[in-house]
Amino acid sequence: MVPPPGTAAGGSAAVRGPSAAAPTGLRVAVVGSGPAGLYTAEALVKQAGAAGRGEVEVDVLERLPTPYGLVRYGVAPDHPSIRSIADYLRRVLEDPRVRFLGGLCFGRDLTREHLLTCYDAVVYATGAPGDRRLRIPGEELPGSAAAAEFVRWYCGHPDAGPAGFDLGVESVAVIGTGNVALDVARVLARPAVDFRATDVPEPVLAALAASRVRRIHLVGRRGPAQARFTTRELRALGALPAGEVVVDRADLDLDAFDPTGESTRLAREDRRVRDNLAVLAQWADRVPEGRPRRVTVGFWQQPVEILGTDRVRALRLERTGLDASGRLVGTGRYRTLPVQLVLRSVGYRSAPLPGVPFDERRAVVPNDEGRVLGPDGRARPGEYVVGWLKRGPTGVIGSNKSDAAQTVRALLADPAPDGAAAPRGAGARPRLTELLAERGVRPVSYADWLAIDRREQALAAELGRGARVKLSGWAALDGAHGHGPAAGGR
Ligand code: NAP
Repeated sequence: MVPPPGTAAGGSAAVRGPSAAAPTGLRVAVVGSGPAGLYTAEALVKQAGAAGRGEVEVDVLERLPTPYGLVRYGVAPDHPSIRSIADYLRRVLEDPRVRFLGGLCFGRDLTREHLLTCYDAVVYATGAPGDRRLRIPGEELPGSAAAAEFVRWYCGHPDAGPAGFDLGVESVAVIGTGNVALDVARVLARPAVDFRATDVPEPVLAALAASRVRRIHLVGRRGPAQARFTTRELRALGALPAGEVVVDRADLDLDAFDPTGESTRLAREDRRVRDNLAVLAQWADRVPEGRPRRVTVGFWQQPVEILGTDRVRALRLERTGLDASGRLVGTGRYRTLPVQLVLRSVGYRSAPLPGVPFDERRAVVPNDEGRVLGPDGRARPGEYVVGWLKRGPTGVIGSNKSDAAQTVRALLADPAPDGAAAPRGAGARPRLTELLAERGVRPVSYADWLAIDRREQALAAELGRGARVKLSGWAALDGAHGHGPAAGGR
């Protein structure tokens, strides 16, 4: 059944928020309900009044039937404190001026033109769903995958597919020295029992319990001073009772691979680098105790080929160093690491949105403080960007708060897209839900999401596992919210 115009789908609990308010003031669509999108919604409701823009209505559009983006589907399950950011973001979604419209795929269920017709402003907040490639031979072999895919799998993302990951292998290489690489290495190094009280889906828990992984190799192409990980995350790797971390002390000799002196300078002046080096040095001094799983953190080695015929058998690495100008160079010395799974954790990548400018080289939407710039370099009226799509895949979740505030300041400072000094009255524009209803598209409402939320909590209680167990797969999510397949989920 199609909901009446101006109301959210899914029953009385959904009939709230902007649709129930008087149709005046600024109407904004935020595309994406991850932290960047929801911090944007929060900044809009907080800042609009002070900026003299009257009452604001914010529709948060989301491809999935579930909100929270990377907080739900990117943060490692053994990081409950970061996951609890969802409790904060929930309050944003429950603000009467904010409405969740899930199951809507931008470019398929709705277009940029639809949004510019229905809203005074559109903020793109779709993050970085893709991943960067190594571009080396063997990358397509079975057993070689993006760490992002592995993360999606253990977080129960519905796009991860039912096949999952076979952890019946002994040795895994994780390429990259960022926080995602640490998350992945830690998840591989932990015993499954550590995940029982977390929200990982049942099939993931079963795969982790069946894991035969014993050796995990973190592979950094540059040195410890250039590693991107944060010290807190690095320490967490060393705090696993069933795992031990091994570091080759030679890798920590800052001058041996870097004739520029930059590594030494960083170790002196950058607190994060100094603290990371102290943690790594402790590990280098440790005598391995023979614990069940070992993580080797290695630097100055560049993957050059993934070896195997039917599947991954080994990884070929070249020793690297910096030249006098600080450029990364190969030394011509190679070694072969026997591994059966290679996870490349070399950064996420944003995807272009149909009709929205995109800088292919930097993989961001060109912008000036969040104002989307067209090919002529001028701001496109009414279009804004936030989060990883705006600045690239860097920073922690909290970084999105100040980033969103900047974009919202720009949005509120700009004249209405039609050139009027004040924004057009919301009543002058058609409602997106009406346009969607005409085309038989029914969004997943906040009430629908709450049904999924309750089902996941009930499942945890049934299984005697923690506060929540995620439903895995589209069918389970669609079944839990009960109004059939989401409009544009897959
Ligand atoms: P990242 O921090 O950008 O790290 C990417 C790593 O990949 C770097 O070590 C980089 O080395 C390496 N790399 C890139 N291209 C490579 C290549 N061709 N061959 C070998 N190595 C290559 O990215 P990330 O780990 O995906 O993290 C993304 C963001 O999310 C970061 O801001 C991170 O802090 C954040 N995050 C935070 C948490 C947390 O706070 N708990 C957890 C997860 C993610 P080079 O430096 O040499 O390029």
